[in-house]
Amino acid sequence: MSLMTLGLKEAALKIKNREITSQELTKDYLERINQRNQEIGAFITVCADKAMEMAKQSDARIQSGNAGIIEGVPLGIKDLFCTKGVKTTAASHILENFVPPYESTVTTNLWNAGGVLLGKTNLDEFAMGSSNETSFFGNVGNPWDASTTPGGSSGGSAAAVADFMCAGATGTDTGGSIRQPASLTGIVGLKPTYGRCSRYGTVAFASSLDQAGPMARSVEDAALMLRAMAGHDHLDSTSADVAVPAFDENLEGLPLKGLRIGLPKEYFIDGLDADVRKIIDESVKRFTDQGAIIKDISLPHTKYAMPTYYIIAPAEAASNLSRYDGMRYGLRVEGENLADTYQKTRSEGFGWEVKRRIMVGNYTLSSGYYDAYYIKAQKVRALIAADFANVFKEVDVIFTPTTTNTAFPLGGKIKDPIQMYLNDVFTVATSLAGLPGISVPAGLVNGMPVGLQIIGQSFMEEKMLQVAWAHEKMCGFEMRAPTANENAA
Ligand code: GLN
Repeated sequence: MSLMTLGLKEAALKIKNREITSQELTKDYLERINQRNQEIGAFITVCADKAMEMAKQSDARIQSGNAGIIEGVPLGIKDLFCTKGVKTTAASHILENFVPPYESTVTTNLWNAGGVLLGKTNLDEFAMGSSNETSFFGNVGNPWDASTTPGGSSGGSAAAVADFMCAGATGTDTGGSIRQPASLTGIVGLKPTYGRCSRYGTVAFASSLDQAGPMARSVEDAALMLRAMAGHDHLDSTSADVAVPAFDENLEGLPLKGLRIGLPKEYFIDGLDADVRKIIDESVKRFTDQGAIIKDISLPHTKYAMPTYYIIAPAEAASNLSRYDGMRYGLRVEGENLADTYQKTRSEGFGWEVKRRIMVGNYTLSSGYYDAYYIKAQKVRALIAADFANVFKEVDVIFTPTTTNTAFPLGGKIKDPIQMYLNDVFTVATSLAGLPGISVPAGLVNGMPVGLQIIGQSFMEEKMLQVAWAHEKMCGFEMRAPTANENAA
């Protein structure tokens, strides 16, 4: 059997025990990418030579007994993390040829732990989108059915993991961009508590919401990868100075008897597909069969989460993206004078969805509207966070569907921004509250995967992962995409 089907932790162990080498594993993944990337479009840049060189160095460290916790494991990196000397595009024309002179903290942490960079994965432009269709570099196909979307914005990472093109991948989640694609591709995607992973060197979208996290084929793998990515960083003033537990070593043994699970009524709504609901109900039942206690809860301000997010995120995006002026780096389209150069550069460099966000953001921040929109949204955000704080007095975790539906056809929603934004209906509230959330595969509807979202308390990823792990064991989800099955046998 090919090495590419190994789990991330399993692979790290085999490399450490010298049963396989990082070079063998890396070669396998590069071959897989070679075979599959044309159809799936998961990678924007593949770094074959660099990957083999890093793998060689990993193997040398193994020989000298200096293994990191993910030593030798090949990873996909969302093309939003700056990688020194390797193109980092944010899937935008404006950064099409940008080669960062520095490395993000999250990727630095991964390389220090022994990770190998296979390449940079596709995404929605500047992580704005839910289908990966706003990418300047083309669509990504869902490995379960390539005519459907893998979700977004971390669509390339999700597809690469689901299709066995890497052992794990990084994603970023501002309003759902790790969890929603994880749900639609049948993998595990974890958005940590805001501040758990450093934002330094990650191309900014909405700074008060952006958070990096792992995407992998099992809960254990996601736990290990999070451990490698996370940590306090003085280069990011919002990075939290909290200890990083060995998440992957402490997954078993949580007593399910007496575990208090909250089911918020606002998440079991009309728009939720009946078959998806059935799958979530089955997941809940697995826990009650083991003695968990279900509490019907209410998060009354949830209904304002979408409009709140779509004021705050564009406002922050408009500010963050003002740096792309064609002067210091990225695309420059010369105009007749400075203002004309700015205008031409930005008009050509940004895609339509990014422009829409910049316009909405600048509007809500403009004088006269600032109080009515931005300040009000900040107040509602506080109420949304308070809802969660209240509920967590009586529950340990919250269960919701991650998405209302399974993957939709490519082209299906791209012309209707509101429909596209509604993809985040179950994920944005958690982001606004800064809480951790994980999507774990829960089952198939008409052959397509769908995820259960488990929301945890601030900096309690450990418990959230233990619950997710218990779910994975009880669910027995066969996560392999059909395409991967044929090739992996
Ligand atoms: N789909 C949401 C948006 O377009 C979330 C994106 C994200 O989390 N990066 O804003």
